[in-house]
Amino acid sequence: MTESDCLFCRIVSGEIPSKQIHSDDASVTFLDISPWQEGHALVIPRRHVADALADESVLAELAPAVVAVGNLLKERLGASACNILTNAGADSGQEVFHAHVHVIPRYADNPGIANLRGPVESDLDEVHARITGQGR
Ligand code: AMP
Repeated sequence: MTESDCLFCRIVSGEIPSKQIHSDDASVTFLDISPWQEGHALVIPRRHVADALADESVLAELAPAVVAVGNLLKERLGASACNILTNAGADSGQEVFHAHVHVIPRYADNPGIANLRGPVESDLDEVHARITGQGR
């Protein structure tokens, strides 16, 4: 996998559009295109790392953004909780081999791990506007 082949590297570069909600020096965060819950976001490193176990520092680099994004989603979307997870390796369910942390807001009307994976109907433009305040 080279960076030019990598979907998430192309999102970081802006070559492929995304609904970005946060960025810092180490990371970019955007809405998942097939959300498990409303506001499901992916925090990814700007540099290419295949998965969270392929590099000993990548999770630490992403940690400030994960906390900021989780709290942003709670504040802006009225979530009461979040699931925070990363898949590392194909047998874990990883499909995109650029490390990413799923930050999945959870709501009081649909709680619990058994209900984690929606699916939910979600208008990404509308959710993006509520999180960022843009487009209103
Ligand atoms: P994983 O299964 O942990 O590798 O998760 C990859 C995630 O990336 C899935 O939840 C996909 O819905 C999401 N995804 C794939 N392509 C895009 C894209 N172009 N924009 C946003 N999210 C994407």
